[in-house]
Amino acid sequence: MSVDEQRRLIVVSNRLPVSVKRVDGGYQSSISSGGLVTALSGLKSTKFQWFGWPGIEVKDTADREQVSQSLEEHSACPIFLNSDLAHEHYNGFSNRILWPILHYQSGVTFDDGPWQAYRRVNELFADQIANAADSGNLIWIHDYHLMLLPGLLRSRLEQQGKSCAIGFSLHTPFPAGDFWRALPVRKQLIDGLLASDLIGFHTDEYKQNFIDTCSNLLGAHTEIPNQIQYKNRLVCIGKFIVGIDPQKFTDTLKAPEVVERIKTLEERYKGMTVIVGVDRLDHIKGLTQKLKGFDSFLDDHPELRNKVVLIQVAVPSREDVKEYQELETELTTPDGTPLLYMHRSVPFNELAALYAIADACLLTSTRDGMNLVSFEYVACQEKRNGVLILSEFAGAASFMREGSICFHPANKTEMSEAIFKALNLDPAERKRKFEQLREFVHKYTSSQWGQTFLEKLNARVGDKATRNC
Ligand code: ADP
Repeated sequence: MSVDEQRRLIVVSNRLPVSVKRVDGGYQSSISSGGLVTALSGLKSTKFQWFGWPGIEVKDTADREQVSQSLEEHSACPIFLNSDLAHEHYNGFSNRILWPILHYQSGVTFDDGPWQAYRRVNELFADQIANAADSGNLIWIHDYHLMLLPGLLRSRLEQQGKSCAIGFSLHTPFPAGDFWRALPVRKQLIDGLLASDLIGFHTDEYKQNFIDTCSNLLGAHTEIPNQIQYKNRLVCIGKFIVGIDPQKFTDTLKAPEVVERIKTLEERYKGMTVIVGVDRLDHIKGLTQKLKGFDSFLDDHPELRNKVVLIQVAVPSREDVKEYQELETELTTPDGTPLLYMHRSVPFNELAALYAIADACLLTSTRDGMNLVSFEYVACQEKRNGVLILSEFAGAASFMREGSICFHPANKTEMSEAIFKALNLDPAERKRKFEQLREFVHKYTSSQWGQTFLEKLNARVGDKATRNC
């Protein structure tokens, strides 16, 4: 790859991808999996260090020292926050205010307290990272929890006479038109982001929405495609398709215990058509709509009532936020629906087995940055060539429209028709669609995503405002 192998990479996310536990008076840390970890594991020749909150409060200086040491073996560097501040930043502002606006939800109430916490956390990140960075480093910041960080970091780096290339990747949609204006601190956040050298989005639509907002809200110059001129600086804007590591799924499906599990599940659902859904328990995943749409499908086709089952895995998420607690109680299953609802996280092997035995995967997001579950399902369908029934509002739909069956998640009739169509595709059409998806999932892998972004960021080292993107 063309990223300079000696160039140090600093990756920043709100949470470190490592879990830290207190064991026998000391601390132990273990790496957790996730899209970012996978993407970066593909960059074997690039050394990188990861900065973020370790997920636990550590007050004592000696304890902090021990935590830092245990994280060092994973190239992770903790940014310590007290619990109240972390809570206000993560749940109060990021998840209760920013996340809904990024996903087009209205009725969000702005509060100054959580906003101050958001700013404070971004400042604490900036202080520590600026001190740790050296000139020439690449700094890659992730997601909506840290939108002020590029600006805060750049000014600190400049004060210290350091020049680094700053990249930012947004993993959510960026809303269109007026929506962003609902946020009273809309300008501060965009101004903060525009201190980056490169900003990446999942789709062209999110990218264009952002460019339009910069022009309308801040008067930034956006005449040249993929470039924003702002405060005498050039910011490059791009679409970078985040994917998964499909090989990990294909390998897992070959493991003897998974082969055995698949057999058991196939036996259990013999003679039935299985539809699978895997979602975090979040309003944006459209689970209420999914249950209504599936019920509608069964009403429309009563003859299929005993022949189709929906296995829905819903992983609990953000349970400290009131709206997320309410969602679980809101989710009521219509009586008599053949639904297996699992309200828990599922181990990786079990997840792969479920994907593999399902004839179709139903994803009903009302908005969704990308939706990697759709990629994972495809990766597990080499044998069955199952059908993806995908909401047109998942970012993935902008790439997978042809290969899947798309529908509008608010229209239960459309969802019912999409399910029926998926279950009745003729084999040649089913195979044709699957091949398209397969090719896409294997081409746009997570490591391809990481490499492409870093090559672009690398090209911006020391580049002030002169070059093209
Ligand atoms: P989001 O990032 O909004 O949660 P994605 O679909 O992009 O949505 O990614 C979700 C990830 O979480 C996938 O890798 C998926 O396998 C995993 N996941 C979702 N639900 C569960 C669950 N119940 N058990 C285990 N893993 C889950």
